[in-house]
Amino acid sequence: MVSHAVLALIEQGHQVIVLDNLVYGHREIVENLANVKLIIGDIGDKTLVRQIFKDNQIDAVMHFSAYAYVGESVNKPAKYYQNNVVATVNLLDCMIAANIKTFIFSSTCATYGIPESVPITEDMPQEPINPYGATKLMVERVLADYDVAYGLKSVIFRYFNAAGADPQGRAGENHDPETHLIPLVLEAAAGTRKDISIFGTDYPTEDGTCIRDYIHVSDLADAHLLGLDYLLAGNESNQFNLGNAKGISVKDIITTAEKVTRKSIPVCEEERRAGDPPALVGSADKAQTILGWKPKYPDAESMISHAWNWMQGCASR
Ligand code: UDP
Repeated sequence: MVSHAVLALIEQGHQVIVLDNLVYGHREIVENLANVKLIIGDIGDKTLVRQIFKDNQIDAVMHFSAYAYVGESVNKPAKYYQNNVVATVNLLDCMIAANIKTFIFSSTCATYGIPESVPITEDMPQEPINPYGATKLMVERVLADYDVAYGLKSVIFRYFNAAGADPQGRAGENHDPETHLIPLVLEAAAGTRKDISIFGTDYPTEDGTCIRDYIHVSDLADAHLLGLDYLLAGNESNQFNLGNAKGISVKDIITTAEKVTRKSIPVCEEERRAGDPPALVGSADKAQTILGWKPKYPDAESMISHAWNWMQGCASR
């Protein structure tokens, strides 16, 4: 997600400093871009972050760095609380010390837990059912308190399922290990993976598989620019869902991927994965009304075909 936001920011004429520990990030996408400085390090390193804030004139901080594997968060919660909460509080404290008061935060639909109804609106209860969602909700709470006490203004974006790739092929999903549905489905289509596992076919949904609301990474990046403008214009802190209000099942994704790739994709039905709610679909009316956000690629075909093009490009590089 960082690289998509960086591309959008420099297209708008911003100068960007990227701080990345490269645990999951990839230096090659951002290191040769004009107006981008890459610093390799960790947001939990107070000395480093303080120095960066001292050496540069910074208007705003966008915070993307977090561990984000739901299943892993259930088995290794300490890793998640340490990185997603403790290191984030460290970053915020360095911001306050440097008098930087504008913050854009990547939160998640996982903060809602099992919603009482869908589409989910921002005012619905947030009761996460996995440690990943809990860590993000804790930071949301910290941000509310830091606003009152220190005047830190934030826009919190609750992403639904980020998907797709840069339409021009400059950046895409490249995780190791890969656990996300769409890239795994595409690996099965490409034949680099034997099959795709479907985690649970007995959910209370139409076809028995989990329903998610997929949102294109370029649309997420656009929202970040709008959130930045919103805060720099002096508006109050706010929270926004970023989704398409469209529920798509795991089986729907596989069928769409077969259509886009024109390959048949072998599946293997498995047990449910720990920590997965049956259906997460988000209303983004608030972001559309207040920020004027309008997703350009709301359909799963575009997301899957951009991801497929990116993957094919990687294979031939
Ligand atoms: N999923 C699946 N097989 C996989 C990976 C994911 O069935 O190999 C399901 C998963 O249970 C969830 C949906 O696909 O319901 C999206 O999962 P993903 O990990 O992509 O995103 P998450 O919802 O965890 O953010």
